[in-house]
Amino acid sequence: MKTIHVIGGGLAGPEAALQAASFGCDVVLSEMRPVRSTEAHQTSDFAELVCSNSLKSESENTAPWLLKQEMRRAGSFLLRAADASAVPAGHALAVDRIEFSRRVAELIAAHPKIEVRREEVTHLDETDADTITILASGPLTSSPLAAELQRLTGEEQLAFYDSISPIVDASSIDMEKVYFAARWDKGTADYINCPFTKEEYETFMDALTAAETVEAKAWEALPTDGSVTDGSVTAAPVAMNYFEGCLPIEETARRGRDTLRFGPMKPAGLTNPKTGRWPYAAVQLRQENLRADSYNLVGFQNHLKFGEQARVLRLIPGLEHATFLRYGQIHRNTYIHAPSLLTETLQLRAHPGILIAGQLSGVEGYTESIASGLLAGRYATALARGESPTPAPRITGNGSLIHYITHADHKKFQPANITFDLLVPLEEELRKKIRDKKERHRIQCERALDAWDAWLAASSL
Ligand SMILES: Cc1cc2nc3c(=O)[nH]c(=O)nc-3n(C[C@H](O)[C@H](O)[C@H](O)COP(=O)(O)OP(=O)(O)OC[C@H]3O[C@@H](n4cnc5c(N)ncnc54)[C@H](O)[C@@H]3O)c2cc1C
Repeated sequence: MKTIHVIGGGLAGPEAALQAASFGCDVVLSEMRPVRSTEAHQTSDFAELVCSNSLKSESENTAPWLLKQEMRRAGSFLLRAADASAVPAGHALAVDRIEFSRRVAELIAAHPKIEVRREEVTHLDETDADTITILASGPLTSSPLAAELQRLTGEEQLAFYDSISPIVDASSIDMEKVYFAARWDKGTADYINCPFTKEEYETFMDALTAAETVEAKAWEALPTDGSVTDGSVTAAPVAMNYFEGCLPIEETARRGRDTLRFGPMKPAGLTNPKTGRWPYAAVQLRQENLRADSYNLVGFQNHLKFGEQARVLRLIPGLEHATFLRYGQIHRNTYIHAPSLLTETLQLRAHPGILIAGQLSGVEGYTESIASGLLAGRYATALARGESPTPAPRITGNGSLIHYITHADHKKFQPANITFDLLVPLEEELRKKIRDKKERHRIQCERALDAWDAWLAASSL
């Protein structure tokens, strides 16, 4: 049987290692901390939660609950550790982070099939026929390893940033100037549209393209030379690597005077009720929460300084006096272009002996990272035994998550949390019959769990 080499002792890696070891595989788990740390980790513990301590909702029949239930039924080691370290948090599963890490470390240390190596992995050997590799080095993968991944997959296939759009307080929008409309009058008119005249558009473009951007720190630079990961700042200008689908708006604007009018500010089909015509350009605002008291500027992810954002975005008709609840931001997040690179069993198409798990695979969030580690551990076990892994069914929560990353729109791929949007919807007929959303979700969850149980039962593991 082949050895399984897991790289990364965060959330996905330990789950993958424990899964594979529990099925009898010999596992080597490499973690670079404390030899080398990341910009976010504080300790050298396994399974460190770098920010919040929440593994999201435990309310029955929500999407995060479904994912966790499936993981529990598959014997997730990290969820068991999380359940045992839970602290009161209403409907969410929140944990005592130190206790959680301690329990995970204990499980790893106690397992005779897992050898831990505290080392930075800087090379991937795609020709090693005796080893199955699970790469779970996370959003802050060290530079040399990221460069290796680029060597194996191509430069264009790795993103180093994720971007978020600004959010505006609904009560600060000038509703006299904007209007609700659905493009081409299709669907419900859920978007608020801010219409531009030609002159307004020109003024806006001038301001946007001249606005000051946030300086990139050295650790945000493209890690092609393997030189920096330690958070030190250099004065040298650095290149930023984005997927085309989530370019910062100022970057798109610089590519041509009309790129925004034909992109995120496309006015086609957005008839202004005041003029009966389409505007010259339009910014669309999408409802951010159920209370409809905040709206997201669609496609306006950007890397401008906050003061500059306030100044430039207030040139948008209707937002002259806007209060911004959140400014656009770009943050470091290394992840592959999974729709082009990954199979449904998390293997690199070009190098099937290498699997990608965790945030690096394009899932987003603690729970999702653990889930993909669980799947990777099972798939790697099958491969180590010389068998073909069977992907989790599409209808399950886990299957839906991986289906999303491997089948998402190639141009617009961005990491995702588990939500009902990713799950298989109910048949049209049933949807019409059952008006209650909660009941529809209950049925979706029931179907998912049945399919998950059947998949586990049919597995040779
Ligand atoms: C700053 C920040 C805050 C976040 N906050 C949240 C949050 O509040 N809630 C949430 O749900 N998600 C959050 N996330 C997203 C995500 O859920 C976490 O990053 C999560 O830890 C991802 O799990 P992972 O196993 O993929 O990566 P990680 O947990 O980061 O684990 C990867 C491990 O690989 C190691 N490593 C890296 N390179 C190498 C190498 N070359 N050799 C050996 N080891 C290596 C790292 O040291 C690390 O221990 C956050 C992400 C970041 C960056």
